[in-house]
Amino acid sequence: MADGMKDHSNLRHSGIGMTSLRTRRRLVQRLRDQGIHDERVLDAIEQVPRHIFLDEALASRAYEDTSLPIGYNQTISQPYVVAKMTEALLAQGPLGKVLEIGTGSGYQAAVAAVVAREVYTVERIRPLMNRAMSTLFELRIRNVHFRHADGGDGWPAHAPYDAILVTAAPADIPEALLAQLAPGGRMVIPVGNERTQELLRITRNDSEFSREHIELVTFVPMIPGAT
Ligand code: SAH
Repeated sequence: MADGMKDHSNLRHSGIGMTSLRTRRRLVQRLRDQGIHDERVLDAIEQVPRHIFLDEALASRAYEDTSLPIGYNQTISQPYVVAKMTEALLAQGPLGKVLEIGTGSGYQAAVAAVVAREVYTVERIRPLMNRAMSTLFELRIRNVHFRHADGGDGWPAHAPYDAILVTAAPADIPEALLAQLAPGGRMVIPVGNERTQELLRITRNDSEFSREHIELVTFVPMIPGAT
């Protein structure tokens, strides 16, 4: 898969493809400097060509450590936050099945797909989901499965999950997501208002849940229903 992704990073946006591996390495160094140290996560960030997930007009900014617009009032997550969330999940053991709420561009799903066996991702905006599907198809990533629905309900058919990644912010943790965590499973989720949220890691120990504060973040809000 890694080779496939490298081959395909030059398909779209041909002026930037040539330098993208080099600029990705610079981004990886920056993430290291900011305290990301799980080599599996850093490798995944190095492998996934983030410019492929953006419109051509924004592709030249793909390896800046910032969130960027992807249309429909939504954003591709900041690489540091993608790395931090993935690291928080991996730290507690290998990832078999991962559920992501908020597919958006598909970038976080693609990074998760490098370190997990299967990724199930749910998006409420159909055109975003369709675009993410074709991007991941182009990158030959075959272990990500898509669902168009309200992610607040999770994806019960494939539960339980070893890990749940929530990339849109609810005011409270949805009960359905807690219920779909496997024993020992963990969820990283931004919880709060529209401006600031607390990124939490929730771990399921049998029927008990423990919660840890990771850091303050800003995600787009989680909105009920699917369109
Ligand atoms: N993980 C994405 C970030 C996307 S931004 C990436 O790497 O690009 C958050 C996404 O969550 C948006 O696409 C938004 O439409 C979606 N979202 C918001 N509320 C949702 C809900 N209830 N169910 C599913 N997706 C939701």
